[in-house]
Amino acid sequence: MSDSLRERWIDWSPSLSLDERLQRWGRETSSSSRYVTDEPLSRHSSLRIGGMADHWIEVGTLDDLWALLAALGDSDCYPVGLGSNTLFPDEGIEEPVIRLVDELASFTVQPESDGRACTAHVMAGAINAHLVRGLLGDGWVGAEFLILIPGTFGGAVALNAGTKEKELKAILDSVWLAIRDDEAEQWRVERRTAQSLAMRYRHTKLPPQAMVVSGSLHLETGDVEAARERVQQDKKRRNRTQPYRLASVGSTFANPVGDFAGRLIEQVGLKGKSIGGAAISSLHANFFINQSDATAEDFLRLMALARHRVRCDFDIDLRPEVRFVGFDGRARMRELERELEDKNV
Ligand SMILES: Cc1cc2nc3c(=O)[nH]c(=O)nc-3n(C[C@H](O)[C@H](O)[C@H](O)COP(=O)(O)OP(=O)(O)OC[C@H]3O[C@@H](n4cnc5c(N)ncnc54)[C@H](O)[C@@H]3O)c2cc1C
Repeated sequence: MSDSLRERWIDWSPSLSLDERLQRWGRETSSSSRYVTDEPLSRHSSLRIGGMADHWIEVGTLDDLWALLAALGDSDCYPVGLGSNTLFPDEGIEEPVIRLVDELASFTVQPESDGRACTAHVMAGAINAHLVRGLLGDGWVGAEFLILIPGTFGGAVALNAGTKEKELKAILDSVWLAIRDDEAEQWRVERRTAQSLAMRYRHTKLPPQAMVVSGSLHLETGDVEAARERVQQDKKRRNRTQPYRLASVGSTFANPVGDFAGRLIEQVGLKGKSIGGAAISSLHANFFINQSDATAEDFLRLMALARHRVRCDFDIDLRPEVRFVGFDGRARMRELERELEDKNV
């Protein structure tokens, strides 16, 4: 697989319509990949919210991925993982939504010569929990903070996922990206160092229309039992303090410097508040829950209310940590905030 991951340029030739190109890709692709039309996005989001994807694509091999990029041409597309940090629009998404699976969700480990450290080559579709279990099973420690972060490696790179103890950037060495180059009418596949991605708290600077294909982690041998114990402690803490098993995206807002979004939302009296089917958890005020058939609009209304109240009382602008995929949720949220300001709520 590492041989297939080298710099390359993939030309596109958009003579057919996008629908025709994708239909053809779907027919010619390997059995690891899948193309369906009209797929409910709610099935692919931990919030269970979202309309239909006109094109839902699962890509299972690198060859299928290169062929898909050629077929996509200059059409916009949205790579996603498990949708554990994603709000999809109620109206659905016309552009292709792409998930990496199978071979593109695998990983290999290359020990260094002294056997005390290794490089893990991780394909972007790998599920964090599977990855960490595999690494710990082989005696490699350092990535265990990822095990309780639901999602894929690609999503973790895109968000610099992390906990209080550690963020991905601490162990990420480099990534392979597929980047759309509209001028050259090509997709470029290139390696970037983690340093060049300006990773900070829940933020990674990826080029527009870029897909993380894989990445390399630096890990070491260590006390696996102590690492497992840390995971157990974190799990207990989460079960005690967060509605970990309910439909959410985890933290809805990033914590402002020196404070906690949950504390601020609780202080303005919104803990337990619901709008439509969406509610602010009464256990942790930064967890917004889909309690019964919530829509994206319900969720955005609740976010707008929380931002508005926190701004009025604390003069702090809460930054959404949830990603709006396939629509401009931020613009709609701001519109709803302006309505609240006008009504002086
Ligand atoms: C109960 C719960 C607890 C959580 N706790 C934490 C926590 O402790 N720490 C934390 O950081 N997060 C936490 N989260 C949020 C979430 O788990 C992470 O943000 C995770 O990294 C999302 O991964 P995903 O694969 O599901 O990404 P998705 O939600 O599918 O995608 C998120 C973003 O990444 C982009 N993306 C996904 N894959 C790719 C790719 N291959 N190439 C380019 N872009 C891509 C998407 O376009 C989207 O913009 C929690 C969520 C839940 C539900």
